[in-house]
Amino acid sequence: MAVAKKIADTLTKSSWIRKMFEEGINLKKIHGARNVFDFSLGNPNVEPPPQVKEQLQRIIDEKSPGMHAYMPNAGYPETRAALALQIGLQNGVTLSGEDVVMTCGAGGALNVVLKTLLDPGDEVVIPAPYFVEYRFYVDNAGGETRLVKTNEDFSLDLEAIARAIGPRTKVVLINSPNNPTGRVYDETSLKLLAALLAEKGRHYETDIYLVSDEPYRDISYDVTIPGILKLYRNSIIVSSYSKSLSLPGERIGYIAINPDLSDREAVMGGLILCNRILGFVNAPALMQRLVASLQGVTVDVSEYRRKRDLLCRGLGEMGYRFQIPEGAFYLFAQSPIADDVEFVRILQKHLILAVPGSGFGGPGHFRIAYCVADETITRSLTGFARAIEECRGC
Ligand code: PLP
Repeated sequence: MAVAKKIADTLTKSSWIRKMFEEGINLKKIHGARNVFDFSLGNPNVEPPPQVKEQLQRIIDEKSPGMHAYMPNAGYPETRAALALQIGLQNGVTLSGEDVVMTCGAGGALNVVLKTLLDPGDEVVIPAPYFVEYRFYVDNAGGETRLVKTNEDFSLDLEAIARAIGPRTKVVLINSPNNPTGRVYDETSLKLLAALLAEKGRHYETDIYLVSDEPYRDISYDVTIPGILKLYRNSIIVSSYSKSLSLPGERIGYIAINPDLSDREAVMGGLILCNRILGFVNAPALMQRLVASLQGVTVDVSEYRRKRDLLCRGLGEMGYRFQIPEGAFYLFAQSPIADDVEFVRILQKHLILAVPGSGFGGPGHFRIAYCVADETITRSLTGFARAIEECRGC
């Protein structure tokens, strides 16, 4: 077989999101794209803020030499310094550019962090439901994923996390605002998590790193997102501008470490090395210059709020049950029947594409990515109503 067994296996089990994407292409061919309501992908439909084009134009017009040359693997010092200031403000700590590494998106950042920290067999504890790619990233670095349940409202279940931590736990990986649930972890639960990790670290005489994946930090509704760096010494943030500036195709993100991290110098050296040897080399030069000039600028979050409210009102009136998302642009609703895969098939009959919760480690639910045109939401509501109707008395 030409393809490695592990990759062949992964391809056959290919993710639900990918399956829905492929089925969506077929349905769109038959019914026309406008008549298929595609909620399967977290691809932002809100355009980047106007400053993105203005700054890009200015940068492109710059005449200085070496604009497209290689650079230090961690990124441009002035970009790292600009981000350090903003991340420091968000987290209530003082950071310097030396605490930041520029990466190819949050996905690149996660791979760099896990490659740096994990020895083969080291464990990564992840609250479920979770972003599906995590498992692959952990495996890329030779680690083992330990999924833990969350509470019914998707808040952190600290007892479940405590039970999952053992002598091989190297990382606890959290994501808030969360994909797929829209949950934001509050400061109290993060403080308790920090205390738990410190206690377990002492017990096992090891360092447990808290990695906080925050690409949706700037997309939240009426809640504050606590800064993790001031709460736990061994904390690392990974994030990107894929959602906050609607630039997922441009692959620009970062890693920010707590300046007091255990083995700080070695970890920083490892991150920079791994950015290079994983083949990223450095984050895109043009985008590094761009984000340095756009600290504090975000997409218009009121657009996502309007879409969230439109969807929640519509589905709520029909009897769907869900937690109102506090952030990100996903609704993780309860399936009206126990079998979420079957319910997603029923939705498909009504030309609605959603993703079964099972794919995220959250069976009995389905995910709607509402980063779509308002019209897609309003025109899909009849189909959602028919689908839940079909399930009554099932
Ligand atoms: N983490 C989460 C929770 C995500 O939802 C995504 C993308 O959807 C990523 C990481 C990857 O982001 P990026 O496109 O910046 O690599």
